[in-house]
Amino acid sequence: MSETIENSFMKSMFSGEIREDLIFPYPKIPDDTKETVKMILDSLGKFAKDQFKSKEWDEKGEMPREIVNHLAEIGLMGLAVPEEHGGIGLPQKGYARVMQELAVLDSSVGVTAGAHQSIGYKALLLFGTEEQKKKYLPRLASGELIACYCLTEPGSGSDAASIKTEATLSADGKHYIIKGNKLWITNGGIANFFTVFAKTKVTEKGEVKEKVSCFMVEGPQAEISVGAKEDKLGIRASWTNAIHFDGAKVPIENVLGGIGYGFKLAMGVLNHGRLGLAAGSVGGSKNCIKYSIQHANERVQFKKKIGEFGLIQEKIARMTINTYAAESLVYMTTHLIDRKDVDYSVESAIAKVFATEVLWECVDENIQIWGGNGFMREYPFERWMRDARINRIFEGTNEILRAFIALSGMQGPGQALAGLADAIMHPLKGLGPVTDFVSKKIQQNVFGASMNKAHPALKKYASFVEEYVVEFASQVETLLRRHGKQIHLKQFAQKRIADIAIDLYAMSCMMSRITAEIESRGVEKCELEIAIAEAFCMKAHRRIRSNFKAIDRNEDEHMKLIANKMYELGDYPWDFLN
Ligand SMILES: Cc1cc2nc3c(=O)[nH]c(=O)nc-3n(C[C@H](O)[C@H](O)[C@H](O)COP(=O)(O)OP(=O)(O)OC[C@H]3O[C@@H](n4cnc5c(N)ncnc54)[C@H](O)[C@@H]3O)c2cc1C
Repeated sequence: MSETIENSFMKSMFSGEIREDLIFPYPKIPDDTKETVKMILDSLGKFAKDQFKSKEWDEKGEMPREIVNHLAEIGLMGLAVPEEHGGIGLPQKGYARVMQELAVLDSSVGVTAGAHQSIGYKALLLFGTEEQKKKYLPRLASGELIACYCLTEPGSGSDAASIKTEATLSADGKHYIIKGNKLWITNGGIANFFTVFAKTKVTEKGEVKEKVSCFMVEGPQAEISVGAKEDKLGIRASWTNAIHFDGAKVPIENVLGGIGYGFKLAMGVLNHGRLGLAAGSVGGSKNCIKYSIQHANERVQFKKKIGEFGLIQEKIARMTINTYAAESLVYMTTHLIDRKDVDYSVESAIAKVFATEVLWECVDENIQIWGGNGFMREYPFERWMRDARINRIFEGTNEILRAFIALSGMQGPGQALAGLADAIMHPLKGLGPVTDFVSKKIQQNVFGASMNKAHPALKKYASFVEEYVVEFASQVETLLRRHGKQIHLKQFAQKRIADIAIDLYAMSCMMSRITAEIESRGVEKCELEIAIAEAFCMKAHRRIRSNFKAIDRNEDEHMKLIANKMYELGDYPWDFLN
């Protein structure tokens, strides 16, 4: 088993293990961080109350540039920058909590601050040398430099490795010269610090290869031009622009992480940065719940408050359960990041997918609960819906992330099976993998997976997790044996595996969080949380069972046939008139 699997809660789950030590006890926000976050939220709240004009900005499609300066003045642009480099030095837990609030106060402002620090200068923060950090972080934290993350291009979106922008070494070997077009870059219109991903030539074993590298490019430069601000569906006041690099100069000291390592950096930044989006989505969901409850309690129809009707109760309860699950897994993941000794890539992808989909559900149901009023521009709800839509698209679409969750999780069991096959075919090499595999199987079959740290009041539902983790590993193995390396082409199966993984992570995080709540406040006072956990687990139980069943019995071939025929037809061919 590889080191990464041993140090990842979710990757271990794909092998049938529950690494309780990684998720129990549920993390707490340290006292000093709590105080700092409260102070920031206080200043932010006052600033927003005085100066945020969300409706007007949305209509115009812009906000004043000074808003960004004010954010920087109250420390909002250097939240994660260490104090020695002029920032506030918040751990990921604290950073996420601030982003949660900012997204509620105004999504466009949230995206602007997020693009600067969740992704814009994150490569420097995570992978820069001390010298590079010393040079740029103080200016980034103060807002003198505004950062953006330049990966996407006209021909390269999800397939980020296919970028065409090139960086070539200058004749004197002192600079890289960057040429290429980047598209839809958040903060593009105000940035003067560009984290740019470009292809470079690398010689490996005598062979010249093209590999992605990461550069910090300072602007303004005559060779950098910025396109017009995009006119968007949502987050309309944020700056989204194309950026054209026509020979922009970058000193060689501004390469991040070494030539040829850029793709790894790009993905590392997103794994880390996604938590900002996920936390913002939790904030948005909570806000929807607040407004939905208000209307459910006030609006009277058929001589009753609409909140008394079962169909409305179901909505409020579902929004609450799913938001609680999202919050539980988002903050658990921030803790895994803060630990710095575990692989959190699958968990962070799950947090982004789950929290952004819960937000979508909440903005939709909030409009439904508000009825016709929900549709009127007099209220902010339709804007919340437009603003929320982007979250399922950027920083990795939810489709790409589902494929990533499944394939990244299956890598460990896949390697174990390949090692096993190799050992059986070549016994002289040693039967280590066979012995490991067999002993692990025996352990799983005899002892199962255990979640002993969950409070006894949650036992029944913790046992759902225990039972499903073992079945999950066995289904993963079945799929790997059936498809071998072709599994990367089997997206119908990947979606099921990802959805099961999402449910298992959500349930595990809730078990941990509610155990901590019970230990601190006692079972009686946690009646609501226990009901939330039970309801989520019962629903997850039905989803997981249905996904397991569909691994063998499904309509996938029909779906493929229908899609392919429709591509041939090019349009929906039926009409009641004909
Ligand atoms: C408002 C906004 C702000 C943005 N900010 C930035 C930024 O700051 N920096 C930056 O670099 N980029 C940014 N982007 C770009 C964003 O990250 C991309 O739009 C996103 O990665 C998707 O790429 P695409 O739009 O080209 O879609 P495509 O990759 O063309 O995808 C189209 C559809 O096909 C699906 N799809 C694609 N490949 C597969 C596959 N292999 N399997 C299954 N389904 C697949 C996708 O999920 C999607 O549904 C921004 C975009 C927007 C709209």
